[in-house]
Amino acid sequence: MSGPSPDPGELYLSEQRFQAIYESVNDGILIQDLDSGATLDVNHRFGEFLGLSQQQLLATELADTGLGIWPYTREVAIDWALKAIQGEPQTFDWLCPHPSGQLVWLEVNMRRTCIGGVDRLLVTASNITARKRLEMEATARLKRAEAQNAVSLALAGVGPDYGTALKLIAQHMSTSVGDLCILDLVGDDGLLHTEVVSQPYIGGDPLLPALESLAPMAAGVLGPGALLGAGQVAGTGQSLRLERATPGEVREHLPAAFHPYLDHFRVHSLLVAPMRTEGSTIGTITLAKGGSSRAYSMEDEATLQSLADRAALTITNARLYARNLEQAEALRRANQELERRVEERTAELEDANARLREMALQDGLTGLANRRRFDTTLDNEVRRARRTGGWVALLLGDVDFFKKYNDRYGHLAGDECLKAVARVMRDVFRRAEDLPARYGGEEFAVVIAGSTPEQAAFSAQRFRKAVESLGIPHADSSVSEVVTISVGYVVARATEASSPAWFISRADEALYISKANGRNRVTQAD
Ligand code: GH3
Ligand code: MG
Ligand code: MG
Repeated sequence: MSGPSPDPGELYLSEQRFQAIYESVNDGILIQDLDSGATLDVNHRFGEFLGLSQQQLLATELADTGLGIWPYTREVAIDWALKAIQGEPQTFDWLCPHPSGQLVWLEVNMRRTCIGGVDRLLVTASNITARKRLEMEATARLKRAEAQNAVSLALAGVGPDYGTALKLIAQHMSTSVGDLCILDLVGDDGLLHTEVVSQPYIGGDPLLPALESLAPMAAGVLGPGALLGAGQVAGTGQSLRLERATPGEVREHLPAAFHPYLDHFRVHSLLVAPMRTEGSTIGTITLAKGGSSRAYSMEDEATLQSLADRAALTITNARLYARNLEQAEALRRANQELERRVEERTAELEDANARLREMALQDGLTGLANRRRFDTTLDNEVRRARRTGGWVALLLGDVDFFKKYNDRYGHLAGDECLKAVARVMRDVFRRAEDLPARYGGEEFAVVIAGSTPEQAAFSAQRFRKAVESLGIPHADSSVSEVVTISVGYVVARATEASSPAWFISRADEALYISKANGRNRVTQAD
């Protein structure tokens, strides 16, 4: 050392100043012997941190002040000290027990320092317990938030199957917050029904069957001699927290089926949260804790409430979704029924239309084809025969002295007579290609497609004879005693020049000749 030696008075002052600072700083200060590790000096603050007197501290090795659980062990502390002695200053967190039962966090710094010409280990420590506690709470909050997110994500994938949602919630609750989790839902009957219970065991016997067969309970109503927590919570919409209660108190809040479980696990704390949505409570979540576990905290209550509200939303959405599906299904069925009826009605209309079309082409009195249908058919047949060069035969028949028949027997009898002639025609001209028709009044016509002259002649004669054979008396006929008919027909191969009108006029001429020649006969056009 060089320079002037200090004045003893100044030295004393300096020593006093040092002592004042040494004892009043916020940090704990401790000086250790390098070789023995013995504590040479320590300030009051260090003692305050650890709840020890200075004497106690001087008698204690610093390495032994830790919690004793890794990394707060003697071995780890000695390791740090050795590094510091080798010239590497060390800073680390040190967790120590306090006589009050609390834990104390210290941030410790160790460095090798020369004090009064001798190298020592200088240890300083600051109390960081408050900061550590905040950090831990933040971590716990983060963990809870993560758990909530995990449940939300799981619920999001659940869809309309809220049974699965409930199981997930119960599982999550029982593993992260409580030992036993019971979910009760309000049913259509307005009562609370136990929906899911996390699987608790009593000496290997599952309690589940006992819990699942719980009778529904009324919300807000007293149970048999006891207030039941879930019922109370459903009734008030307010959560319930029972902290370190006596077995008797716990029993009061749960139905008898739970009592064996409560006793076995020494349940002392309960948490019941309402599942609320749009102002109404749709159910409750009950958690129970026992044994030496800690009671539920207010934070647990808040966590459970937020999960319960999420669960309520999921369940409500799932129920709405299911109801919408039902409505959509009902709508689909109604539409189907409507379509069926429309189809039925359409078929009816088509039938009616077909009948109308039929009527439009039918003669009302005789049921034969009417003049319109006859004209169309003749037209078609002539046209077709022109293409193929085939035969077309056209036959006209006219009842003889029909005016006189009407005059004598009356118009109604006349009608009956016409119907009888029509029946004969249907009988004689029954091939699919034949079209017997009422041409007008007491005149009838037949288109006989593809008929050879022989066949046409034969059919014409058959027709005339059949009318005569009806034997309808006709006293005023000058040709017979019964109703007779005169027939004229034409049969020809169609040519380019052939027309329906030509066939009609030829047949008409032949009919005229039959009339002129005495009636009740058949004439073929030349
Ligand atoms: P002809 O032997 O020359 O054919 O003598 P006709 O009396 O049969 O002939 P005319 O043409 O003079 O008379 C036809 C009669 O047929 C006149 C009409 O009153 C009657 N008549 C036409 N349509 C109907 C009907 O639908 N019902 C009844 N009852 N009579 C009808
Ligand atoms: Mg006539
Ligand atoms: Mg006539």
